[in-house]
Amino acid sequence: MSMNTQGRPTKPGEADGAFHPKTFTGNRGLDMEEPLIFEFASLETTGVDLDEDDSADFELGGHERKAEIGLPGLAEPEAMRHYVRLSRNNFAIDSGLYPLGSCTMKHNPRLNEKMARLPGFGDIHPLQPVSTVQGALELMEDLAHWLMVSTNTSAVAMSPKAGAHGELCGMMAIKAAHTAAGRDPKIVLVPESAHGTNPATAALLRYKVVSIDAKDDGTVDLEALKRTIAEHSGNIAGIMLTNPNTCGLFERDVRQIAEMIHAEDAYFYCDGANFNAIVGKARPGDLGIDAMHINLHKTFSTPHGGGGPGAGPVVLSRRLAPFAPLPFIRKTDKGLELVETEASTAEGEKPFGRMTAFHGQMGMYVRALSYMMSHGSDGLRQASEDAVLNANYIRVGLQDLMSLPFGERPCMHEVLFDDSFLKDTGVTTLDFAKAMIDEGYHPMTMYFPLVVHGAMLIEPTESESRASLDLFIATMRDLVMSAKRGETDRFEGAPYLAPRRRLDETTAARKPVLKWTKPEPAEVTSAAAE
Ligand SMILES: *Cc1c(COP(=O)(O)O)cnc(C)c1O
Repeated sequence: MSMNTQGRPTKPGEADGAFHPKTFTGNRGLDMEEPLIFEFASLETTGVDLDEDDSADFELGGHERKAEIGLPGLAEPEAMRHYVRLSRNNFAIDSGLYPLGSCTMKHNPRLNEKMARLPGFGDIHPLQPVSTVQGALELMEDLAHWLMVSTNTSAVAMSPKAGAHGELCGMMAIKAAHTAAGRDPKIVLVPESAHGTNPATAALLRYKVVSIDAKDDGTVDLEALKRTIAEHSGNIAGIMLTNPNTCGLFERDVRQIAEMIHAEDAYFYCDGANFNAIVGKARPGDLGIDAMHINLHKTFSTPHGGGGPGAGPVVLSRRLAPFAPLPFIRKTDKGLELVETEASTAEGEKPFGRMTAFHGQMGMYVRALSYMMSHGSDGLRQASEDAVLNANYIRVGLQDLMSLPFGERPCMHEVLFDDSFLKDTGVTTLDFAKAMIDEGYHPMTMYFPLVVHGAMLIEPTESESRASLDLFIATMRDLVMSAKRGETDRFEGAPYLAPRRRLDETTAARKPVLKWTKPEPAEVTSAAAE
């Protein structure tokens, strides 16, 4: 049996010469094959026992369903096994290092989960009378307070559900501010290295996106910015800038950028998704920002759900604060109240509208505040420092073998490599990432940011121990050496050990099959057809 470098037997692969039985079930030991729920469940089975509904009194005016609903039925143990088996095919931050740059896949402390499940937080409903949820509103106020303190800003819109939603909220506040001032500028400036959601947000609001070049060191080119501002003077609504930027570098000229933008009567939107690198070290309000979303699921450790439910509160400067959307909380003598309508706003409050039905994602608020409170300000600062330290530890551990597009200078919370170290090896960034899966790692972010060729963006976060980082670095070094030795087999067919090998991602993206259709029975006899 072959051993890995840690002295443990490796998982049998096709290439190691050992005997690999073709199993009857298709399962490979604890690696279970799991069909789609529609393929094995039956309509007759159910996991619950409900009385027949004998009231024929429908109130749907003839629109009620007449046929069977056709949903698959499972007994409780079948349902349990199906989802547990599927979950075992998942990779998660709870199962291993997840170095997805820009995404901040950090540990979600269990204390947060415990707090979020307290009945007073977990079992409330947004339509409950406000007098019965004063504690929840107070928690929201507390969280809002600390978000404003840590960013030195004047207001925060709590309701956006994710980073991109927060961008939309911040840019709508900016648009409302221009409209209130009788202006209608048409252009939003976006640096080259921006996250795709930035230009998408600007375009959704019908702004024209004008790109700003980067310098050779990966940061915004001030001269290029100056030229662009002069060219479009009077027609610029704002800039959308990420800091630290998506190359993992701190934009040192951020104050000058803010001044140049403000001199144009335009606004500075900061993409705050990377706030986790600077919490406790720098306050974005001091850097001149007017609006910034905070991804609670990145900086403050709330879970990244499968696209939600999340929370992306937006902090606003004094100039933008009046335009914060409904609903918001107001302190009165009788306690906390929710301002739900324009009619109930006070003098000077000019909300641009409403983004969500209710007040926000309570479960995420509880988790984020729990993370803040359990760390304290010194702990939050240390978390940022550790995140930056870990990224630099990886940078230094790999920079002699992999290629740094902007030289061997310190990075922030993530380190960006390009693919020039793979030149002439026949191995691509994609192949390299797939080979990482065989080693038990989720790949890093690939081909983003677009400003470098074959980007590999690695963000370890503060969650990883030194031992975990050492093993990761050693694995990456082994892969690089293997590529340089010309062992292309290890890469071209990778992943060999994942349940589904390499998928045709292009076809999956271009022609997605989103609906299961029951396969025709193979043979229909004339007797059965009758
Ligand atoms: C994650 C991220 C976003 C988008 O945040 P979501 O919560 O995924 O919508 C925007 N910008 C940057 C730089 C990010 O890393």
